Amino acid sequence: MAETTQEPIAAIAGQCLHYTGVYGPGVEIRTHCSAGVEYRALVNHEMEPGWFIRLPCMTRDPRCDWMPDDPAQCSKLELPNDDQVDEYETWFETHFAKMMEAIKGARVRYNMAVDYDRQTGRIRTGDFEDKITCPKCSGTLHFIVKATGGHDGQCETDDCIMWRSCNSTWARG
Ligand SMILES: [Zn+2]
Repeated sequence: MAETTQEPIAAIAGQCLHYTGVYGPGVEIRTHCSAGVEYRALVNHEMEPGWFIRLPCMTRDPRCDWMPDDPAQCSKLELPNDDQVDEYETWFETHFAKMMEAIKGARVRYNMAVDYDRQTGRIRTGDFEDKITCPKCSGTLHFIVKATGGHDGQCETDDCIMWRSCNSTWARG
């Protein structure tokens, strides 16, 4: 466990440091930001589709130039400075590279098992579970290749590498 793997606060240019995303993984609704502000309260609990576009959390949309004429106001708005943005980008690039390395390592291990099965005539059914050494923290990283397709991985170290059900299927046989 050489290095700290704690994910820093996401510092994205033009986006409030407290913004958590209104929708999270699995599309559960996140109602409050990390500064405790309720997103819907900022827009007077407006219910029309697209209400979140008026949130002041993003001062520019990274995907397009269009921004609302009447963005809501928030007294807790705190934009990152350039150093924070650089630091986060560096962390993200390193973390992402290590995650890709882990997925590749898991795939190599899985392919070895498939080759061994082929040589020995073993028919494998159900999910395939194994572990590799985590390329980021050198701890133990568990992974599973689902019989239904997709693969998940999770390091035993808190806040280290984790991935879920990539769409690609590592075809068997
Ligand atoms: Zn790890």
